[in-house]
Amino acid sequence: MDNTSLSKVIELKQVSYTWAGNHSPTLAIEHLSVHRGEHLFIKGPSGCGKSTLLGLLTGINQAQSGIVEVLGKDLNQLNSRQRDRFRADNIGYIFQQFNLLPYLTVVENVLLPCQFSRQRRETADLEQSARQLLRKLHLNDQLLDKPVVELSIGQQQRVAAARALIGNPPLIIADEPTSSLDHENRAAFIQLLLDQVNQANATLMFVSHDPTLEPLFDRSLDLRQINQAETLL
Ligand code: ADP
Ligand code: MG
Repeated sequence: MDNTSLSKVIELKQVSYTWAGNHSPTLAIEHLSVHRGEHLFIKGPSGCGKSTLLGLLTGINQAQSGIVEVLGKDLNQLNSRQRDRFRADNIGYIFQQFNLLPYLTVVENVLLPCQFSRQRRETADLEQSARQLLRKLHLNDQLLDKPVVELSIGQQQRVAAARALIGNPPLIIADEPTSSLDHENRAAFIQLLLDQVNQANATLMFVSHDPTLEPLFDRSLDLRQINQAETLL
């Protein structure tokens, strides 16, 4: 990869996305670019297309037109197997509902993405690195071999963050990851996440409808400002 493609982690051009069965597009975005290392906050009311946009960036949704470039790769040029591989290798994803496997231990949950990506299991001692990451996210050693269901919601969310960060994927995407945390825990969670994202020199796309979290990020984007879909109706 050359320097220009490295400096821009995301580049969307004239992208349009319409859900199957819909008459009009949910997203129509002229241009969006995100630089390497940026911490971007994406806001907008429920239903405005935030999750749909994240689906485009991970290659789960495919734009009907336009260019979706992630880490220098045009996702529309990849077949579905290549997109799955690309996602597993390069993107750490934190879900709103965490999506942890309840009966696996904390460490086992964190190691899951490495099963799908050779690139992410290249770290010498993966389990050691999982434990280290969990410690940095303030989870005590005695929690790490427990089934994840025995942890509090706030602790589970930090496990989900560690799972996204394991193996140092260059892009971390979080879709409303704090909505089940109370307010005090939200800011604390984001601070821990930002510290780890910085240490890994990764880029963070963080979606939330809670505007009070906005000041913690480098840049904030209201999806409605760049989405012209409504004007196309
Ligand atoms: P947000 O994440 O901002 O709340 P979404 O991206 O989930 O918004 O949804 C944007 C629009 O796309 C909504 O009108 C929603 O109904 C529609 N949508 C989302 N997911 C699907 C789907 N799987 N099939 C059809 N329409 C969908
Ligand atoms: Mg959503």
